[in-house]
Amino acid sequence: MPSLLKKIAAISGACLVSTQAAFAANEIGQLREIGDGVYSFTIGEGNHSMFVVGEDGVAVFETFHSGHAAKLLTAVRSVTDKPVKYAFISHNHWDHASGGAVFSDAGAKTIMHRKAAAWLKANPGADTTSPDKTWSGSRKNIDMGDFTVNMHYLGLNHGTGLTVFTIPERRAAYIADLVTPNRVMFSVVPDFNIGEWERSLGALLEMDFDIAVCSHNELPVDEALNGCTRTHAEEERQFIRDLRSAILAEFQKGTAFMEIPKAVRLPQYAHWVGYEEWLEMNTYRLMTDLFMGPFPWSPDDE
Ligand SMILES: [Zn+2]
Repeated sequence: MPSLLKKIAAISGACLVSTQAAFAANEIGQLREIGDGVYSFTIGEGNHSMFVVGEDGVAVFETFHSGHAAKLLTAVRSVTDKPVKYAFISHNHWDHASGGAVFSDAGAKTIMHRKAAAWLKANPGADTTSPDKTWSGSRKNIDMGDFTVNMHYLGLNHGTGLTVFTIPERRAAYIADLVTPNRVMFSVVPDFNIGEWERSLGALLEMDFDIAVCSHNELPVDEALNGCTRTHAEEERQFIRDLRSAILAEFQKGTAFMEIPKAVRLPQYAHWVGYEEWLEMNTYRLMTDLFMGPFPWSPDDE
């Protein structure tokens, strides 16, 4: 993943010229309060967690992997000694659902949708563990005392059991993989049903929140720490629509199938990370979708 490597290189480069204090900050990750008791956290790998501190305890969102989770726990401890009650995991993919044991061992309950848990049971990763708790259906709230975590399963869009979290009392949301600011779609757009993704973004935009953390964020590091906004969700949806329109226009013109990925250009997104490297892959993926029908797909009984 060139952009990530670039980012890691940039962060390492920054370390060479920064003060020891800044280096230490990078070692433990970067933390910012973006709302009332709402924190965003990253260790500089392009992964962003969130946690919310309440009177009775803390809710953590996305563990990613054990190394990330351990630093996230340290970050929580740097602002409060209240117990971490839940570590919420958004979906099945290993790059998000690993590292939960760090929080289970610290006395928290890891929780994910039962569909995600079923996938992980069949396809365990090297650093994944069974969740302490699962939930099912399309909506459930977890009472945290002075705030509530609202879990939304929006249907098949990306991975299995992907859950969007909102915290109405804090006007906050945690959004995994459905919105990635300042970046084209991820490489070959793995495990996304693009039409359902687009529909889910519409559902997301109906939700009530002012601040959010997106699991991946390709804005400059300091800006990314502020999280993402509804505008980024709108931009993500517009990119899907613009790419589809551009492909359909080439279909209409009679451009040969193999020529289309090179022909499609969306200069309005040229500043987005991955534009040069991934636009052709994005195009191939959406073309196959338009040609063969949407995938992945399975009946959804939630
Ligand atoms: Zn994913």
